[in-house]
Amino acid sequence: MENYAVLKEEQNEFQCTVSNILYFKGIGLHTGKEASIIVKPSKADSGITFVRKDLNPNLIIKAKADNVCSTLLRTSIGLKKEGNAKDASGCISTVEHLMSALWGAGIDNALIEVYGCEIPAMDGSARVFYESFYESGIKELKAKRKYIEILKPIGVDSENGDKGPSIAVYPSEDFEISYDMDFSHPLVQSGSFDMKIDGFNFYGEISKARTFGFLKDVEYLKKSGLALGGSLDNALVLDETSVLNKEGLRYKDEFIRHKVLDLIGDLYLSGYRIKGRVLAKKTGHDMNSKIVKKIGEHLNSVPLAAGKKEDNGFINVGKAAATVFA
Ligand SMILES: [Zn+2]
Repeated sequence: MENYAVLKEEQNEFQCTVSNILYFKGIGLHTGKEASIIVKPSKADSGITFVRKDLNPNLIIKAKADNVCSTLLRTSIGLKKEGNAKDASGCISTVEHLMSALWGAGIDNALIEVYGCEIPAMDGSARVFYESFYESGIKELKAKRKYIEILKPIGVDSENGDKGPSIAVYPSEDFEISYDMDFSHPLVQSGSFDMKIDGFNFYGEISKARTFGFLKDVEYLKKSGLALGGSLDNALVLDETSVLNKEGLRYKDEFIRHKVLDLIGDLYLSGYRIKGRVLAKKTGHDMNSKIVKKIGEHLNSVPLAAGKKEDNGFINVGKAAATVFA
């Protein structure tokens, strides 16, 4: 397979981890159960790793697209049993807002100990995680940061043709997202969002956007075992014409910004930061996960002789591989 993406090393940027141990406690948005996590510093090139500490033995689940076991209204990761995603063990639900905050704060490596089967919802955005990471300090490691460079467009189309969701990533020196949303609601409506996103503007422009849901769907969702922990404290809730949250919206276009927040978190399941222009139309976690897997397939196609294949499915850019990526 021709290489459409490569893993490269930044010249002047170094990998980071958290400086201190951080504790978060709250309610799982979908399970409605109490959930807590402890975020710990981790060494260079270890990536983001989740551990289900409440299970005996503990279950280690790397934050990577191959471990995605459900994309129904949230992104869940788990260890698959014989390739059957639905039968994954030790699932951790709703990792996307935390993953987005880790991306925004520039954290390449962290160990996330999870007590329960879902990440706490906090306020339904990435803000609480992001602020805690920054306030407690980010530690720079000695190893250079790696990133995925898109060489040729990689895309995933919907089976419904033009009407369905689609996503593609094009070459770019930056990380840019253009998102088109299509909702038939007086407040959400259709719209587009286009921005070059980095660790500086992520906090102000993206991190505070909350997840959202429609009152008319709540009963059905709860019967399906979803949104059981959803409330006005951790989600924007809309009735036919208005937002029920008394404080109103944090951004005029908070809904689409939250879709971008989700997309950033889902893309980070590639294991690396991406340099590319992402054009997403009406995507949710399913399409987001598909494009990450596709990018991973292209990375895997780098000749193995040039780089050591790591257990996380990506190529380790060692010294021997330098010429390949020059
Ligand atoms: Zn979300």
